[in-house]
Amino acid sequence: MSKRIVIIGGGIIGLSSAWHCHQRGHHVTVVDRNPDQRDGCSFGNAGMIVPSHFVPLAAPGMIQLGLKWMWNPESPFYIRPRASWDLLAWLWKFKQACNSRHVNQAAPLLRDMHLASRECFDRLNSELPGGFGLMKHGLLMLCRTQSSLSEEVETAKLAAKLNVDAQVLDAEAVTKLDPNIDMDIRGAVYYPQDCHLSPNRLMATLQSRLVDAGCQFHWQTEWTGFTSNGDQIKSIRTNAGDVEADEVLVCGGVWSEAIAQQLKISLPMQAGKGYSLTLEEPCQQPSICSILTEAKVAVTPIGSSLRFGGTMEIAGLNESISQSRVRGIVQSIPKYFPKFRAEDFADCQPWVGLRPCSPDGLPYLGRSSRWRNLVISTGHAMMGISLSMVSGRIASEIIDDVPPEIPNLGLLSPDRFSNR
Ligand SMILES: Cc1cc2nc3c(=O)[nH]c(=O)nc-3n(C[C@H](O)[C@H](O)[C@H](O)COP(=O)(O)OP(=O)(O)OC[C@H]3O[C@@H](n4cnc5c(N)ncnc54)[C@H](O)[C@@H]3O)c2cc1C
Repeated sequence: MSKRIVIIGGGIIGLSSAWHCHQRGHHVTVVDRNPDQRDGCSFGNAGMIVPSHFVPLAAPGMIQLGLKWMWNPESPFYIRPRASWDLLAWLWKFKQACNSRHVNQAAPLLRDMHLASRECFDRLNSELPGGFGLMKHGLLMLCRTQSSLSEEVETAKLAAKLNVDAQVLDAEAVTKLDPNIDMDIRGAVYYPQDCHLSPNRLMATLQSRLVDAGCQFHWQTEWTGFTSNGDQIKSIRTNAGDVEADEVLVCGGVWSEAIAQQLKISLPMQAGKGYSLTLEEPCQQPSICSILTEAKVAVTPIGSSLRFGGTMEIAGLNESISQSRVRGIVQSIPKYFPKFRAEDFADCQPWVGLRPCSPDGLPYLGRSSRWRNLVISTGHAMMGISLSMVSGRIASEIIDDVPPEIPNLGLLSPDRFSNR
């Protein structure tokens, strides 16, 4: 039976959910406070689809890394100390999740989700006119130092146990794989199943296909509340009036915590601020996307341009730009790619985005036990593009009571912090 589905949030998670709900025959309305021509976290990111990223952000060693880098203004991972109860509570939960048991539980689930998403992206890229520039060339984890390479080799061993293809390469083998770019590295781990795409094209293609298919978009419309009857949400309140719904899907990115709060659901969330810089005419163009492991910078060829993205700055809900962190990204690049100079970026306008980060590094995806017709899908942190397609599919299946194909989705329950 066709239902009226109202989605709060038109980022990649909202659009992919809209896509799958529409495919299942539902009547979809997307509400977003931004205008039609918009920007935001889902646009200027690095566009990587990453089965290699099966380790969540909350992993052993992350607390120590945060402490070590806290005093370095150019470091790629930073938690700004501030007197905030929400931050303290989030950090406490983050610390509790930074253990191997959590990683061992989460890794097979994240792998399954990334691989299912990849399959879906592959199909959609060839089905949708224009596609979104999906490149199935793999991903290189580039290492300048032996200690980083050794760490990456350990992750590659874990990948092998999970049946994720990973190849350890010396510098010469890396050059053979991507001869288009000079590299000053010790070696790399190559993940052939990873891919990259143009996030801007992905967003534009999905949006225009959804419009053509009759999906309603309410732009410049701000969610302000809900009306309900018992455990049933009747409509969402907006600054432009109420929108009635049979099912409500919350995909509000980093702002979802406030939305859920009104429904008495606790979704602890911190904004993980990141920056990207796009060179329109790079002096060299790699064909394979990469991560500069020590600098934690992602490098993605997007058509003829080259995008560099990095920094995970837990510094509150603001989009101010820290020039020292942007400098940290720029200065790391020539260390790996010696043909590039910091001056190449002089005219580059830094882009900023806020990743929605849960304290255990896993998305919130599922029905809340408090409300009969509410599904939450958010908190995808640095994997929101990669996990978007599968998250959209799962959300649409939950709405239709279809048993999930992927096991252990209970780990993603949006109720998991509500009773603690
Ligand atoms: C530098 C950087 C690089 C990245 N690289 C990658 C990558 O390579 N691969 C990957 O998988 N991920 C990557 N990410 C992460 C990815 O970009 C995010 O996980 C993803 O974009 C989050 O999407 P979203 O739809 O949840 O949130 P958003 O895109 O933030 O969308 C949320 C929407 O909700 C709307 N909204 C919120 N509140 C309201 C309200 N009250 N009323 C109406 N509308 C509202 C907002 O306007 C917004 O449009 C990167 C992120 C950054 C910053």
